[in-house]
Amino acid sequence: MQDGLGPNAEILRLVLSKIADGALPSVRVEKVWAGYGTGHRCYGCDQPIDRTEIETEIDLAGALLLRLHRRCFAMWQRELETRENVAARDLK
Ligand SMILES: [Zn+2]
Repeated sequence: MQDGLGPNAEILRLVLSKIADGALPSVRVEKVWAGYGTGHRCYGCDQPIDRTEIETEIDLAGALLLRLHRRCFAMWQRELETRENVAARDLK
């Protein structure tokens, strides 16, 4: 897992805009399935998830199935975690 800038900064920008417009729900996900990609479009970066990459599948209330690269999933969830921490701090 790398936290540097570069291509990741562009993906993070996309992920943030999707959180803002609701394309990615502001939900902390506990349960995911991971496996090799099958060419589906990633909900984070809009690129296909290829067979050599790890795909993360998220089933939200049995209704909405999201597929993301493991990297994009991590960015999305890390952003929500950061927001929760900020909100908790502001309550004090
Ligand atoms: Zn992606």
